[in-house]
Amino acid sequence: MRVAVVGAGVAGLSFAARFGDTDVFEEHAEVGLPAHCTGLVSEAALRLVEAPGDVVLNSYDELLITDLEGRSVHFKLRRRAYLIDRPGLDRRLAERARRLYLNKRVAMISRGYVYTSGGDRYGPYDYIVIAEGSARRLSSVYGHVVGLAGVQVDVKSDFELPGIAVVYNRKLSRAYFSWIVGLDRGLYRVGLADTCCVVERLGKLVKIIRGKAVRAPFGGTVLAGPPLRRLVFGRVILIGSAAGLVKPLSGGGVALAAQSGRAAAEALARDTPSLYERATTPLRLKLRLAFEAFRALYGMRLIDVLLHRLDGESFVAVDYDDHVKTLAAAALMGKRSLAAGTEALVRYLLALAEGAQRVGNT
Ligand SMILES: Cc1cc2nc3c(=O)[nH]c(=O)nc-3n(C[C@H](O)[C@H](O)[C@H](O)COP(=O)(O)OP(=O)(O)OC[C@H]3O[C@@H](n4cnc5c(N)ncnc54)[C@H](O)[C@@H]3O)c2cc1C
Repeated sequence: MRVAVVGAGVAGLSFAARFGDTDVFEEHAEVGLPAHCTGLVSEAALRLVEAPGDVVLNSYDELLITDLEGRSVHFKLRRRAYLIDRPGLDRRLAERARRLYLNKRVAMISRGYVYTSGGDRYGPYDYIVIAEGSARRLSSVYGHVVGLAGVQVDVKSDFELPGIAVVYNRKLSRAYFSWIVGLDRGLYRVGLADTCCVVERLGKLVKIIRGKAVRAPFGGTVLAGPPLRRLVFGRVILIGSAAGLVKPLSGGGVALAAQSGRAAAEALARDTPSLYERATTPLRLKLRLAFEAFRALYGMRLIDVLLHRLDGESFVAVDYDDHVKTLAAAALMGKRSLAAGTEALVRYLLALAEGAQRVGNT
């Protein structure tokens, strides 16, 4: 069976590592570059991507949700979060790919053939796996996924912040949030995602924390879902971000890229691609509901209310990246904020119920 993979990111390379005999096409000259991802993952994700020890750069057991204007809620993380060297991870995964064609941008796929922008044709293939990430130049015809501009920069700063800080401040991001991740002593990765003006707003954020850039800004499109309704279109299969497989409330997608790459490889190894769609149905339903929550809750700025009510308190959090759930759960624990917590939870559940109804109706 001949299989082509478009894109050598976590999804494409996880597919290739599991499936074995594949042709992987990557538009850039080096795997993992240019970097775009912050590199924060959970412990479970670390295991899922089989990250070797040398790509793990840091780990965290503290999360601060703040508006950087005096209000903040502190969380001790029940399970640590990790910072990985994302280009390093991609390079290590690439060692397991049989045939990797670099500098080959796939411009078109048709009738089992892959056509590159340089005018080459490869194939015919039995299956073509699209793993092109958030670029979505080929996959957009299969369904829409919401994208926000994301930009970040590593800075030196004397600002004192714990491991991971998530910033909800409308002057910095109206549609999503900003982040500040401690890389080393006095060194932070700061970034944000929004629908516009991200470079200017990143400048503001850097100024607030008195940062001095130590490398050029980097980033890309942060996807907020929803996952596509179908992932298999005849001989074409979509995995990772190309399929909208990201967490809508945080934009995180490294773990889902690896998970979907592997599930697709296992299905194709049995020459039954529909098994991949079936295996990911519960996951996609969960992501679709989270997408509905994203649409409803980020619009209502519920987090601002919770931040206001919980200001100064400290809690234990299960999750480092579902901030809405984390804050709502905290609000239910704090006596001072029980009313806000109940309101938040009710709104969260209502958003999910409305979402579930919409998902059910379509
Ligand atoms: C600013 C930012 C911060 C993020 N931070 C996190 C985080 O901290 N944690 C987390 O879990 N997720 C994070 N994400 C999301 C995460 O990066 C993606 O979910 C993940 O990279 C998806 O993997 P993928 O393999 O599907 O796509 P990608 O990693 O994007 O890989 C796609 C590959 O395909 C190549 N390609 C694209 N089009 C073509 C083509 N036509 N021909 C050939 N090659 C092509 C690209 O060059 C790339 O190498 C972040 C995203 C952004 C933008």
